[in-house]
Amino acid sequence: MDRLHVVIVGAGFGGLAAARELADAPVDVTLVDQNNFHTFQPLLYQVATSGLASADVAYPVRGSAARQENLAFRQATVIGADLDARVLHLQHPEHEVEDLTYDHLVVAAGATTNTFGIPGVDHHGFPLYNLADAVRLRNHVLERFEAADADPSLMDDGALTFVVVGGGPTGVEVAGALTELFQVVLRKDFRQLDVDRARVVLVEMQDQLLGPFSPVSQAHAREALTQRGVEVRTGVQVARVRANRVTLADGEELAAHTLVWAAGVKANPIGAALGLRTGRAGRIEVGPDLAVSDHPGVWAIGDVAAIVDGRGRDGTLLPQLAPVAIQSGRHVARQICCVAAGQAPPRSPFRYRDKGTMATIGRSRAVAELPFGIRLRGFPAWLAWLGLHLLMLAGFRNRISVFANWFWNWLTYDRGPRLIFRSRPRADD
Ligand SMILES: Cc1cc2nc3c(=O)[nH]c(=O)nc-3n(C[C@H](O)[C@H](O)[C@H](O)COP(=O)(O)OP(=O)(O)OC[C@H]3O[C@@H](n4cnc5c(N)ncnc54)[C@H](O)[C@@H]3O)c2cc1C
Repeated sequence: MDRLHVVIVGAGFGGLAAARELADAPVDVTLVDQNNFHTFQPLLYQVATSGLASADVAYPVRGSAARQENLAFRQATVIGADLDARVLHLQHPEHEVEDLTYDHLVVAAGATTNTFGIPGVDHHGFPLYNLADAVRLRNHVLERFEAADADPSLMDDGALTFVVVGGGPTGVEVAGALTELFQVVLRKDFRQLDVDRARVVLVEMQDQLLGPFSPVSQAHAREALTQRGVEVRTGVQVARVRANRVTLADGEELAAHTLVWAAGVKANPIGAALGLRTGRAGRIEVGPDLAVSDHPGVWAIGDVAAIVDGRGRDGTLLPQLAPVAIQSGRHVARQICCVAAGQAPPRSPFRYRDKGTMATIGRSRAVAELPFGIRLRGFPAWLAWLGLHLLMLAGFRNRISVFANWFWNWLTYDRGPRLIFRSRPRADD
């Protein structure tokens, strides 16, 4: 019997987990991603706030492919498909289009930023969803300090006011890390500048931060951020954004050159491009076994999939988190392994094992809510957060590098990669 060809779209947490689970199966796997690297999104905020270098949170996919005999990689963007003929249409970076046939297609293309149509956010806001976003934000933050150093009157215009929108883990982490960067590092770098005038304002439309956490953790996060100088505004939305002004729904206008958008995600639009049925927030509808109905051999996993929580909560979708993506990727791979072994697909339902959630609040502070009702706060939670993230990082080199950077930053109150770095296009580009 010919070997099955499994094509996985997306080398994120879900796609890589599926590919690895298929390592010993009698199948050929092709992983397709628009980038030639996997991004560790949970640490993007540290790149944006000069805590880590880009290479620390990215891992070349060909590194995985080189170690797995049945795995090949294609750098291309998936732009469509003929699902009846089992053909995927790819667009290569150099503009050629390629048709790739498959027996099984695993869609693992993740999510993207949702700005909810708020005027000005798309144009003036700084999202934090990929590595390019993180480097762009880092450049901008450092440039604002350089500009204010050259012309301190710009501070009155909001050059050093940073509005972070979204009180979930990403917003809390960004706000905490920005204040730490200003107070601990940039204060020393910009000795002539009144760095005390730098403001971080965290805006959240709900009445509390960290929505899915317990009230105790929410209160701890708020208190820790406030102690560090973050101005926390809850129960208010952003209504409009301009280059140097952020208008809140209650009419308040903040003079600010920077708005970091950490307020929402929606599924990658690939579902519609492939002609698959999508539901809430554009997520691809899947059955309990993560198969896409009406299209045999097509599966969807991770952030892009509308996976109903099978733990009895009627109709609730699982959250868009890395462990969901990893576990769903492994689940689909195991179903495909059965088909490859000549068995009928077991069609077993996916059961998510919740291992808890965590968020850091700057140096040595965090909240963690783990299984069996274990709740940690402060330094122990921060150590748990460090350990878990080191374990989850792809690549041994990255783990060593991140650990060394964290240790250095913690010991010296310093930050290494505070570089304003732009690549200039070649004349013939
Ligand atoms: C800033 C931030 C912080 C986060 N922090 C945490 C955290 O602390 N803990 C946690 O559990 N989760 C966290 N998450 C969520 C977590 O990162 C996601 O749930 C997880 O990455 C989802 O995995 P995935 O495989 O579904 O998608 P992704 O990891 O997003 O991977 C999708 C891949 O598909 C590729 N792709 C997209 N479209 C195409 C296309 N058309 N053609 C080819 N390739 C394509 C992308 O380049 C990408 O590599 C965070 C997310 C963000 C943005």
